[in-house]
Amino acid sequence: LTDDTGEVEGLLRRRSEAFATVQEHYYREPPRIERGWRHHLLDTDGRAYLDMINNVAVLGHGHPRLAAAVARQLHRLNTNSRFHYGAVVELSERLAAALPAPLDTVFLVNSGTEANDLALRLAWAWAGRREVVAVREAYHGWSDATDAISTSVADNPDALGTRPGWVHTVPAPNSYRGAYRRADTARYGQEAAASIRDLTAQGLPPAAFIAEPYYGNAGGMALPDGYLAGVYEAVREAGGLCVADEVQVGFGRLGEYFWGFEQQGVVPDVVTVAKAMGNGHPLGAVITRRDIAEHYRSEGYFFSSAGGSPVSSVVGLTVMDILRDEKLQENARTVGAHLRSRLLELADRHPLIGAVHGTGLYVGVELVRDHQERTPAPEETAAICERMRELGVIVQPTSDRMCVLKIKPPLCLTRESADFFVDTLDSVLREGW
Ligand code: PMP
Repeated sequence: LTDDTGEVEGLLRRRSEAFATVQEHYYREPPRIERGWRHHLLDTDGRAYLDMINNVAVLGHGHPRLAAAVARQLHRLNTNSRFHYGAVVELSERLAAALPAPLDTVFLVNSGTEANDLALRLAWAWAGRREVVAVREAYHGWSDATDAISTSVADNPDALGTRPGWVHTVPAPNSYRGAYRRADTARYGQEAAASIRDLTAQGLPPAAFIAEPYYGNAGGMALPDGYLAGVYEAVREAGGLCVADEVQVGFGRLGEYFWGFEQQGVVPDVVTVAKAMGNGHPLGAVITRRDIAEHYRSEGYFFSSAGGSPVSSVVGLTVMDILRDEKLQENARTVGAHLRSRLLELADRHPLIGAVHGTGLYVGVELVRDHQERTPAPEETAAICERMRELGVIVQPTSDRMCVLKIKPPLCLTRESADFFVDTLDSVLREGW
């Protein structure tokens, strides 16, 4: 770097001049982060922050075993997957083995956006039609097609008003603040299935239904029991494919489940993966059935220069090895349960906390001004995040109402660090909001 002095302001100015500003940064006055270690980030003033939001770096920052594996492979070979080498075969086998039958065929790409884009292309080729049903308030990527199916207003205030005609949406199944709560939540699935059958009756049978199998934009909320089973049935009746976007929730973060769809007791037709799969290295995958993948062959072209390269494949394999050897899914389960129980106890004492969503290390703390109306508290949420940073914790707002503290730390989070997070949140809430 030409500037490795650690200076903050000048670099921020250079960033705004050279780097398109639509690519925002966290915080009005961000610390300059040049190092990370496990679930901590270090700024150039020598301060350490507890990183509670890095769902990409699942193994933690600066993992020496991953760094060594990448360095070794970079010294040996990096090329595209039209060459014949072992790592791409082994990674594909490992991914397929991590999924239930009949999901046995793998495409390797470089991001979640690409994975979802390809999933849509597979469905279009399979069904010979373009209609897609997506769940409202979701994010699936920034490309033309994945942006079209993303309706989170956190990313685009006019999200629903600007959809192309082939996109159809069903309500966000938010059992905390949607139309149906508690005993009523089965109606989300019934109504989504009914609207899919309506589309079919109108001569617009969907080629695909896409959803996160665990509702992410709410900060991590289980879909109502039976939701995906009912919706998938309606989609399959129409001859469409059921796509599970596991980009955020897959790969062990939920603790009890390696994949989000397990929680719903279904098997999708297409699964998309990214983020955790590369621990920050650009890596994504689509896993589907052989017949769906072969069908695409006749209708589309697919080649990705870096998707499945030797280095990317070694990253993918090493991430899976480390997840297994360090028992990180199990850690997400146990530390996540501890974190959740402490947060629930905090909720008893601080009325600003309306609900604690999530499971494992995918947790959302929803902040509300009153418990009756559940009025969102976005200003309080933003201010609490700023104050938490002053006290050494990185946490950010999420949801369409920006009133949920999103908590998705590296899966190596320790019980002590979970306690530090809750204690810091407790002291910030005591300051009065
Ligand atoms: N799907 C979901 C659920 C996501 O959270 C994201 C990223 N926030 C994406 C897709 C897109 O992934 P990427 O940023 O790797 O393109």
